[in-house]
Amino acid sequence: MEISEAYNQIKNEISEDVTLICVSKTRQIHEIKEAYAAGARDFGENKVQELMEKHDSLEEDIKWHFIGHLQRNKVKHIVGKVYLIHSLDSIRLLQEIEKQYGAQDKIASVLIQVNIGKENAKTGIAAHDIDSLIQACEECNNIKVKGLMATIPIGNAEECRIYFNQMKSMFDNLKTFKYKNVTMEFLSLGMSGDFEIALKAGSNMIRLGEKIFGERDYNKLEG
Ligand SMILES: *Cc1c(COP(=O)(O)O)cnc(C)c1O
Repeated sequence: MEISEAYNQIKNEISEDVTLICVSKTRQIHEIKEAYAAGARDFGENKVQELMEKHDSLEEDIKWHFIGHLQRNKVKHIVGKVYLIHSLDSIRLLQEIEKQYGAQDKIASVLIQVNIGKENAKTGIAAHDIDSLIQACEECNNIKVKGLMATIPIGNAEECRIYFNQMKSMFDNLKTFKYKNVTMEFLSLGMSGDFEIALKAGSNMIRLGEKIFGERDYNKLEG
């Protein structure tokens, strides 16, 4: 299927208040341009270097989402280039974001990434550590938390549903509190294989790569 056709098909399927992020990691510029021409403005990348290159060679009205693990020593490179960082998962990273955005007098918009499946190999903060992270956010001047993000363990539909529902409850619960720097606007859940389940559970931000661009080929970029 053509990229534009795939994009339009998903757009027609989802409600208007759901943000569709086209995950463009490993994709070439011409592929991103094709999605852009179809109307896509939100794109997701998981590597700082790749995001910087694409940011600098594409249109200025693109909203770049950083969806990968963010190393502290790379934060300085993305200041002013990213619409939303989906992967805040520690107080140390928070402090680095505060420092680098503060130095350039800019505000970082971030989502807290939750390791909802308690997977060892996965990044994301443990659910029981969210409160202390939020307290630390309240001390900041250059950070706004806009919601939550998770990637869930591979599993069947029922298992996915359980994790997505847990995220939605956490999101709804945090929404009931009044914070200075924290609001619950975005719940970033769902990828190509499970976004329909995520939407049913209440996600309002889905991150689709293969569903839009076709199968990913990690060797392509080097060639
Ligand atoms: C790659 C990636 C996606 C998109 O995955 P697809 O299966 O291609 O839709 C979504 N979220 C994150 C965090 C990713 O790294």
